[in-house]
Amino acid sequence: MSIAVIGAGVVGLATTSELLARGMDVTCFERGAPMGERSVGESRIFRYAHQVPDLVEAARHARLLFGDWEKAAGQDLIEAVGTVVSGDDVHGWADAMTEAGAEHFLVGPGSAQLRLPTSITAQHSLIDPAGGVIRVDRIRELLTDRCRDAIRSEHVHGLEAGPEGVTVHTSHSSHRYDQVVLAAGAATGPLAAQVGLYTPLALHHHARFTFPLRATAPIGPPAWITTSASGLPTYQHSSTPGHWAVGLELGPEAIGWTVGRDAALAALEAATLDYVRAELELVEPRIVDRVYCTPYDGLADGIHYRRRGGVLAVYGENLMKFAPLIGRDCADAVINVSIPSSLGHAQ
Ligand SMILES: Cc1cc2nc3c(=O)[nH]c(=O)nc-3n(C[C@H](O)[C@H](O)[C@H](O)COP(=O)(O)OP(=O)(O)OC[C@H]3O[C@@H](n4cnc5c(N)ncnc54)[C@H](O)[C@@H]3O)c2cc1C
Repeated sequence: MSIAVIGAGVVGLATTSELLARGMDVTCFERGAPMGERSVGESRIFRYAHQVPDLVEAARHARLLFGDWEKAAGQDLIEAVGTVVSGDDVHGWADAMTEAGAEHFLVGPGSAQLRLPTSITAQHSLIDPAGGVIRVDRIRELLTDRCRDAIRSEHVHGLEAGPEGVTVHTSHSSHRYDQVVLAAGAATGPLAAQVGLYTPLALHHHARFTFPLRATAPIGPPAWITTSASGLPTYQHSSTPGHWAVGLELGPEAIGWTVGRDAALAALEAATLDYVRAELELVEPRIVDRVYCTPYDGLADGIHYRRRGGVLAVYGENLMKFAPLIGRDCADAVINVSIPSSLGHAQ
């Protein structure tokens, strides 16, 4: 069976790596730098904490598989010293974790277990002790090394499905494959549409900014999901020693696609700086790094798969924490010509 994976983000590379490990004939097409779009940057948040038990379970599976990657890499890929979720809806998250049998506990505002860059005012915070920070830079090194010989630097412009397989048209050539895994991140929608598959098309602008920490005492847990005093959803974590990365959500009038990248970035930068100045006393309001990407409109946590004939498309948000699970499930689905169904999110 000949297989093409389109996109060398973390999802495409995890899939390619798994297929190579099973001795399959696989080519991974990438138009830019591997893990240079949505998988760019040095860190992400890992958590068991999710709002539905299926995803808690998926995170548990993914953590086991990250363990295999850690053995191969010879170093930790997740620095697991906990993730905190604060806010009114933490009980829903706690219920999902209880149902999935994942360790967690709730603490109040004065808890000595919370050493975050500000004092917590939320009535309840959920501590997910096995959460933490994903070292994306190490994953990039591991996966690009494993997949090096399979990656082809070509921009895929077209897909054509027929009875004999799927033809992949690139900037350089056209090749026919028995199976194609479409893992092109923000570009999945337009390619999927060419073979009659619907996946989300609408995107918006997003950016996460990194700041120096003023804290001299260690921060912990190092990852935190909360809502600002003005009601903006935020996620934040210790990205590298002495640094704190913060992302927040704004409405479509500020970050919608038609607003344009520059205007959206300016709005996000201003809002994030305002938030840091107003609410994070242990963070210096000085931006030292920025990660920009284009997420889908309206998608929350979750992994989604669609198949038509020889093309399997995979998409979703916050996929880094599930990457080894997605790679394994996509490889199974390619070999069995099926759709991954372990999460109940297959469509
Ligand atoms: C700021 C930020 C914070 C995040 N926080 C978290 C978090 O805390 N926890 C978490 O789990 N996840 C988080 N995520 C999300 C996670 O990083 C992404 O879901 C994941 O990296 C997506 O990987 P991917 O492989 O699907 O997409 P991508 O990494 O975008 O990979 C797609 C690849 O396809 C290539 N490509 C596209 N079109 C073509 C084409 N036509 N031909 C050839 N190649 C093509 C692109 O160049 C790209 O390399 C965050 C993302 C960002 C940006």
